Amino acid sequence: MAEHIVKTDKAKASILLIYTGGTIGMVEDPHTGVLHPFNFQRILECIPEIQRLRILLDAVSLDPSIDSSEMNPEHWARLVRLIADHYERYDGFVILHGTDTMAYTASALSFMLENLAKPVILTGSQLPIGVLRTDGKDNLLTALEIAAEKDGEKPMVQEVCIFFERVLLRGNRTSKVNAEYFNAFKSVDYPNLAHVGVKIRYDKTALYRHTSYRPLQPHYDMDAHIVVLKMFPGISEKVVQSVLSIEGLKAVVLETFGMGNTPTSGWFMQALRAASDKGVVIVNVTQCAGGSVDMQKYKSGTLLKNAGVISGYDSTTEAALTKLMYLFGLNYESSVVRSYMDCCLKGEIRA
Ligand code: ASP
Repeated sequence: MAEHIVKTDKAKASILLIYTGGTIGMVEDPHTGVLHPFNFQRILECIPEIQRLRILLDAVSLDPSIDSSEMNPEHWARLVRLIADHYERYDGFVILHGTDTMAYTASALSFMLENLAKPVILTGSQLPIGVLRTDGKDNLLTALEIAAEKDGEKPMVQEVCIFFERVLLRGNRTSKVNAEYFNAFKSVDYPNLAHVGVKIRYDKTALYRHTSYRPLQPHYDMDAHIVVLKMFPGISEKVVQSVLSIEGLKAVVLETFGMGNTPTSGWFMQALRAASDKGVVIVNVTQCAGGSVDMQKYKSGTLLKNAGVISGYDSTTEAALTKLMYLFGLNYESSVVRSYMDCCLKGEIRA
């Protein structure tokens, strides 16, 4: 049940705040220094400034709240249900989430919330909200402001984003890049959607825009029979074979070198060919932080193509993985999944 946090007559927007857990919702025990979760309904005591935003704010928590390392497709489905059940009632949604898997959740939600036309902004913090130097306060206040922002009659943001340390990023284009610094997230291959300084400057050419209105179509099933296989010099046949022979395996996100390169050994290509022939969808993404796979450029790319591997273009691993989970969750055949992987569904690739 969502509880009212801020009620105001002069609200310019209504926002549902969904608390899932993570560092942001922690307070430090003054005696021991140990972090423990605090009752999120008491957020106003930590950030009384929220009342000055002129938004009507309700909050709901995942029960139990979790460290985001525990996130899984069932939690994503619960988030999708919360948003779908409250979609008409609120102008936007802010999800407080641990940073560790925030990019996976943002990517997953971007696919699961088909026809989303309202803001879903994920944020969190590197330091708990109850710590003096916390980054959580700014992140939360600005995320709420962005979720309430209008562009004429329509919401300014109509997609799933991550807001963190002064930048608004497309969720399915983002990765966590730093475990320690406040600027923990980056979208290397897609422009920032907004920069926050004295003003919030939106890049309207980069924001997702709906051309026609269709009702929200929530999807709840994600198929997790997928593996991420990261290439490294010296990877052995035994390792590759055992990964590709996992029972029920439906897809592999192959994290390759540079522009999509791998060793060219016969055993490797044959193993990939055999897996593709069995219907396993193998998607080539680069393990570099940015740039796109190009399977025409080097010999190994051509060999991979011949072995049935498809390009993931400039997809992040998080986006490729969750897109595959989503497409197999729709019960599509491998051939259909392969063709959808070649299309940009929610701004996740430049295909
Ligand atoms: N381990 C925490 C989590 O992801 C870290 C954080 O919140 O930043 O839940």
